[in-house]
Amino acid sequence: MKKRIALLGATGSIGESALDIIIKDSENFEAVLLTAHSRRSKLEKIKTLFPNAVCILTEEENGKEKLLSAIKNANADIIINGISGAAGLEPSLAAIEAGSDLALANKETLVMAGKLVINLAKEKKVNIIPVDSEHSAIFHLLKAYSENNDEVSEIILTASGGPFRKLSLQEMEKVTVEDALTHPTWKMGPKITIDSASMANKGLEIIEACVLFNLPPEKIKVVIHPQSIIHGMIRLSNGVFYAQLSKPDMRHPIYDALYYQHESFSDAPSCLHKQGLHTLGLQALDFDSLTLEFFKPDREKFPMLNLAWKAVKQGALYPCAYNAANELAVAAFLEKKIKFTDISKITALVLEKDWTDDPSSFETVISADKKARLTASNIIN
Ligand code: NAD
Ligand code: MG
Repeated sequence: MKKRIALLGATGSIGESALDIIIKDSENFEAVLLTAHSRRSKLEKIKTLFPNAVCILTEEENGKEKLLSAIKNANADIIINGISGAAGLEPSLAAIEAGSDLALANKETLVMAGKLVINLAKEKKVNIIPVDSEHSAIFHLLKAYSENNDEVSEIILTASGGPFRKLSLQEMEKVTVEDALTHPTWKMGPKITIDSASMANKGLEIIEACVLFNLPPEKIKVVIHPQSIIHGMIRLSNGVFYAQLSKPDMRHPIYDALYYQHESFSDAPSCLHKQGLHTLGLQALDFDSLTLEFFKPDREKFPMLNLAWKAVKQGALYPCAYNAANELAVAAFLEKKIKFTDISKITALVLEKDWTDDPSSFETVISADKKARLTASNIIN
């Protein structure tokens, strides 16, 4: 039986990679729901490839309500959440409520409401399978090498370092939107590309990793690895590091998430997973021409890293405020209202406020998100 896939954010960068898999591996997967926020013509073009799928455009009147109800009624085996930003939270919760496994690219879901989401997933017996490449690597490494978290001494998230890795602080004051949108290794949507340039993306991923793997922030390390070939590493108490390597192509983690499902289904032929490269037409790594470099991140030049570690240590709604302040500041930078280096300054100021309320209800999360955006917007104005 084919697995029924709902794809949220079908017109985005994650959406495009996911569609490629669904098309090429159509023996095993079928799209039953496709959603996007805007760009009707692109969604309609996609729809022609999947005539049986329900399509939702959330920009329309009552779009959000239609989306949440479509998720509920999709009867999907797996819901891929490739929505960008805080708008991904409610659809993630709806997916879990519906009892569908969640292949989660939208990291904001776990940063904003980690406790709430994990508790709900446990209650509904739903798997959350990370699609973020670093977390996907670590998730599968932990599954292969350690079922017991006590054995994990540290996990390492690799980071390309973005386009400004070699710039001085003074030079970073002057970078343009166009400079920041030029990522050296990954092709992604605008928000995450700016986050990669400021390393807020790694900040969000530190928080995401703490939530997903139930580890304290001290155990999460970040290493600059400009080639983006190693995506994640774990070190176990035996002192050994285990790493996951592949070309920087999001189809790898998406494919692994979709087949994670197959592994837990008794009807899945065990050979399927091994055909990934062949099915997708992906190239294996060529070790004859491979250089792997590692550097320490410059925490002074990239304050979003320290702010994330601090936010996750403070707990409560600090991570939610970090995400909201950054998201608003990135939007202002993209609109050329602020400088690139203002993004971290604004986030730092927002985090100075009190975010100690209980993060376990949806209402408190949404109200903290709103309050942090308002605070950030007042600072900008
Ligand atoms: P993108 O901007 O390319 O695409 C975003 C998609 O979400 C689009 O289809 C858009 O229509 C939809 N969307 C936007 N606002 C929405 C709203 N309010 N309601 C419903 N749908 C909405 O972004 P992307 O690069 O594909 O990233 C998507 C998510 O995946 C982000 O959370 C990002 O951090 C995460 N992620 C992306 C990559 C990558 O390689 N692109 C890697 C790791 C994680
Ligand atoms: Mg990532």
